[in-house]
Amino acid sequence: MLRVSALEYIRKVEDGEFTAEEFAAEILRRIRDAEPRLHAYLHVEDESRVLEQARDVDRSLRSGRPLQPGGAGRCMGMPMSIKDNICVRGARTTCGSHMLEEYVSPYDSTAVSRLRSEGALIIAKANMDEFAMGLTTEFSAFGPSRNPWNEEYVPGGSSGGSAAATAALECVASLGSDTGGSVRNPASFCSVVGYKPTYGLISRYGLVSYANSIEQIGPIARTVSDVAFLLEIIAGYDPHDGTTIRAVPDAADGPDGDSTHGDIAESAATGGCPESDVAAGFLAGIDDGIEGMRIGVVGEMSYADSVDAQVARATRGAVHDLESAGAECGEMSLDMIKYSVPAYYTITAAEAQSNLARYDNIRYGYERPLEGYEFNSYVEEARSMLGPEVARRMIVGGYVASAGHSGKYYLKAQQVQQALSRELRDAFCSYDILISPTVPVLPFKFGEKIDDPVALFMVDMNTVTANLTHVPAISVPYAMSGEGLPIGIQMMAGYLQDKKLLRAARALESRALLPEVPD
Ligand code: GLN
Repeated sequence: MLRVSALEYIRKVEDGEFTAEEFAAEILRRIRDAEPRLHAYLHVEDESRVLEQARDVDRSLRSGRPLQPGGAGRCMGMPMSIKDNICVRGARTTCGSHMLEEYVSPYDSTAVSRLRSEGALIIAKANMDEFAMGLTTEFSAFGPSRNPWNEEYVPGGSSGGSAAATAALECVASLGSDTGGSVRNPASFCSVVGYKPTYGLISRYGLVSYANSIEQIGPIARTVSDVAFLLEIIAGYDPHDGTTIRAVPDAADGPDGDSTHGDIAESAATGGCPESDVAAGFLAGIDDGIEGMRIGVVGEMSYADSVDAQVARATRGAVHDLESAGAECGEMSLDMIKYSVPAYYTITAAEAQSNLARYDNIRYGYERPLEGYEFNSYVEEARSMLGPEVARRMIVGGYVASAGHSGKYYLKAQQVQQALSRELRDAFCSYDILISPTVPVLPFKFGEKIDDPVALFMVDMNTVTANLTHVPAISVPYAMSGEGLPIGIQMMAGYLQDKKLLRAARALESRALLPEVPD
């Protein structure tokens, strides 16, 4: 019963093949069974509450009344999980950190409230690397999640819990956040679909900031169409987030003039090249195929020496599949890619340092007695609650942005970001889509890279560029290695070309032959 996509779930509930309550009961059983092995979740909603909400859905379906005022209830009680840095009212939002271990959110993030108003059931909060810094979940203060394909391997991260849970049928879909690959990387490692939208498409209201100038909430699901369906619900302008795109432009119009983006978006925007295609409705036309689409294979990301041989082979297979679907594929080069990881880690460290400075046990954090405490002891105690990776980023971030050094590091990194955006904009004049493996290496074992931060950073080689340049990117499950480990293919499209990207991803997905996750 649980092996359904979101859209199949909805159809089956509508057709009366099963009720929302029956499905919810089954998924709760699955969670009880799988969690001791996988630890995808930090918190599971009270079972009787989940079942009660599912019964409400069933009742309103039978009576023909809309589930919620203002919402058509398109999700029909679909059980979802939410990464633990996204606020869900009344639930803990720990960000995988001891610092926020006891923080209960008093409000819903915009993305979550939109899902709820369509009748989605939020059943769990998913594990993650502390404050979304990492790519294995090994930096979660509450212990790592495991890869459902092989529990000795990392599930990827930082949204590792979301991806593992979606792959292991512990939810139908999940929300993650992607600052430099945190949705796409675990999606690739767990063989599910992960989507990083154009910056500004989804509100970040209620997402705890790590590097807010480049990060987005993104859906993780088992099919490309499910991701498109979820985008239809959660994307859109939000007065609570000034960086959301005000008017979603029509296919006929150029890039959105109302967007509040600055230089990066403009240089990554379509500026005279392909026209923006984000009209309302991400599902419409998703199956229209890719006849005549021009697809660039990014050489540095796909066939460099650092790319695992099996991963490179899978990429060749994907290119071949896309050609047989009617696309024109050609290898191309992005020269600035070699600087993208250093630029990414410089910019994100500076923003992390600034965003996390508030956890000082004075206004944010744990209440401490007023007497006998000096300012430094508050901050010192607060800092001691952050794990080693977060501490590393904050130290680096303070340094690269400091008065004496910012010219050499932070400003330089921003120049790289601008140059990369220009290079990408030019590339999207010649190509509709750029393709590469999502991650240049296969999933690896726990502990394998944890002591070598630079090696870990380099795993992000293919994913950070889309964030730095604000363009949309997706990871599509494509192949399995000889050892039975998932390999995902990444596609990127120009600024606001999300619909075209989904169409290309759907074409690739329909050609991938993949096994089902083991029970
Ligand atoms: N691995 C990257 C980092 O640690 C990406 C994390 C993310 O996308 N949140 O910064």
